[in-house]
This record gives sequence, structure tokens and C-alpha cells, in this order.
Amino acid sequence: MREYKIAAIPGDGIGPEVISAGLQVLETLAGQDGGFKLGVEHFPWSSDYYLEKGYYIPEGGLERLKQFDAIFFGAVGALNVPDHVSLWGLRLPIAQGFDQYANVRPARVLPGVKSPLANGKDIDWVIIRENSEGEYAGNGGRTHRGLPIETGTETAVFTRAGVERIHRFAFEIAQKRPRKHLTLVTKSNAQRFGMVMWDEIFYEVAKDYPDVKVDRELVDAVTTRMVLKPHTLDVVVATNLHADILSDLAAALSGSLGIAPTANLNPERLFPSMFEPIHGSAFDITGKGVANPIATFWTAAMMLEHLGEKPAAERLMAAIEQITANGVFTPDLGGHATTASVTEAICKVLADQVKKAA
Ligand code: ATP
Repeated sequence: MREYKIAAIPGDGIGPEVISAGLQVLETLAGQDGGFKLGVEHFPWSSDYYLEKGYYIPEGGLERLKQFDAIFFGAVGALNVPDHVSLWGLRLPIAQGFDQYANVRPARVLPGVKSPLANGKDIDWVIIRENSEGEYAGNGGRTHRGLPIETGTETAVFTRAGVERIHRFAFEIAQKRPRKHLTLVTKSNAQRFGMVMWDEIFYEVAKDYPDVKVDRELVDAVTTRMVLKPHTLDVVVATNLHADILSDLAAALSGSLGIAPTANLNPERLFPSMFEPIHGSAFDITGKGVANPIATFWTAAMMLEHLGEKPAAERLMAAIEQITANGVFTPDLGGHATTASVTEAICKVLADQVKKAA
């Protein structure tokens, strides 16, 4: 029996609600397949924990996490902690500490889900976000605080090694997709150092992937292309900041932030990778039992695929598509379902799949 050690970090807001739903679905799958088992350990690291202890990750925390096969993460962010403190306290130390440099964000309109776009059915994208440097490298500072000459700097850091590995990763993904098309997103017209290097290295790497069709788009222009000509995009590679913004747009165009998944990968598998829904803490619906768990289920499917459990991942995706096609929707998708009822519906579809196969 294959066994995977999963570190669950539910975090803040609706994080605990959706992670608990996700674990319920994962346990159902594991129990049914018989081929694998999950050993789940919960980590209480959250903003409440920070307010009590003064830190998000206790000493030695990353060392403990390192022993897991994957991290299943909910959300971080609380009303009583500044966002930059919570982000740099929990999510970024894990993503950067474990060199999860490739952030993968698939977007498509699931069956039955309504996109705000008339041509939303054409959305079938994978956004690859550089996840370790760029604009979020943490390079900057503040001086002369409070004085008229106060200065704040935020320096984007691009390294040849960092840029080359994310482009190569994006080409590998594009090469495996039917359309084999990769769009380079840039801003090298206005930013003439790091961004020009970003473009140059892209075309160097492209020589190793002659079967992948490439094009290049400025980040501002690509937003209009996403809205007006979604069929012209397939895989998109963008910097940390650009892809952060583009993937929220992609999620909204796909119907709701509540269905968008993401994987923070360390492709070399030297460290565990981290899987999380794209959405944040969603304070407006926290505790109401109506958070859409689909993003977390899709995230769980990505985690299963990463762990090598492709058949289980495919079964889970099929179950998700069946319940969206049946219109089992939480309020963000215009329905009246609850987190619990969507979860039960998925578990029932999974049980029915087993019965049908028997
Ligand atoms: P962050 O900065 O932490 O990414 P955010 O400010 O982008 O967070 P979210 O917390 O993701 O915002 O919420 C944005 C909106 O989307 C809110 O109205 C929220 O209720 C809604 N939303 C987010 N996730 C879900 C979900 N799983 N189910 C239903 N609605 C959601």
C-alpha cells in the first residue's frame, strides 16, 4: 500500500472549512481505491496562532514540514494582522524556503458553470507563475520614516537561473498539451533590464522546444486578449506579480474565485510541494458554511497527480465536473448549496463511480 504524508495547514478565514472538506473527499478516495493511504497531520499555524505566540511558524517548523510528501494549504490573512505580515509570516517562507518556484494555475470553465464572458467556453489555460523571485523577492527597504524625504524601495530581482528554470518548466507543460502553445508575458517596453533579460532567456530556452509555438504579449495587452480572444491562449508564463494578477482575472472569467486551484511546485522534488486554492480567507463568508470547496477539491486533484496517483486525480476531476454539470452550486456560483452539501455530493458521485465499476 502506497502511503503519503500530508501536512494540512488550514490557516485563516474559510481555510479550515475548505481544507476539512478537501480532506473528507481525499479520505473517501483513498478508502475506495485501496491502493494508497494518507497520513495527515494538522498544523495549527494561522493568524490566531500568531497573535497568541508572536510567530506563524515555530522554530524548527520548516524542518518538520520537510518530511512530508505534500502540503495541503487553506488560506492566510486576517483582519487584525497586516496582510504583508501574514503573507511573509506563513505562505512565503514555505514557498520560498522549499524553493517552490513553479506556481501552476489551470483555468477553465467547468461544465454547468457560467462565465461572465459570452465565449467563456474557450478558456482552457494554464498560467505558470514564477514563484521565487521577481517582484516578490523581498528586496527593498524603508528609510527616513515619517520625514518628507522618506523612501521606500521594492526591487524586482531576476536571476538567469531563476528565469531560465521557470521558462523551461513552462515549455515542458506547453509541450504536453494538445495545442503546444506558450505565451510569454512581459513588460519589457517599460522595464528595460530585468524584463528584457526575461524575454531574452525565453527565446534562448525556446530553441530546445521547436515543437512549441510561442508568442509574446505585454502584460496590459494580455488582459484584453484574455477577455476578448480567450481561444488564442493556451499556456502563459509570467512573473510573480504579473501572474498573480492574471490568475485572479482567469479565475473570475472561469466563473468564480471559489473554483480556482493552484500548485506551488518544487519540480526537482527536493522539498515538498504545496497545494492551495487561489482564493484568500474570504472574511465576508467565513463561518457561514457556504464557502465553495471546489477550488480545494481541484487543488486536491492536482496534489494526487503530483503524488503519482493519476487515476484517483482523474476520478476526482470527473466527480467535480459531474456535480457542477448537475448545478450543485454554492452562492458564489448562483446556487444555494453549502460547503457540506457540495462535499457530500462529491463523495456520493465517488461512491457511485465505484459501484458502476464493480
Ligand atoms: P487574498 O488577498 O488573501 O488573496 P482576496 O482579498 O483576494 O484575498 P478573497 O478572500 O479570496 O479575497 O475573497 C474575494 C471574494 O471572493 C470575496 O467576496 C469572497 O467571499 C469570494 N470568495 C473567495 N473564495 C471563495 C470561496 N471558496 N467560495 C465562495 N466565495 C469565495
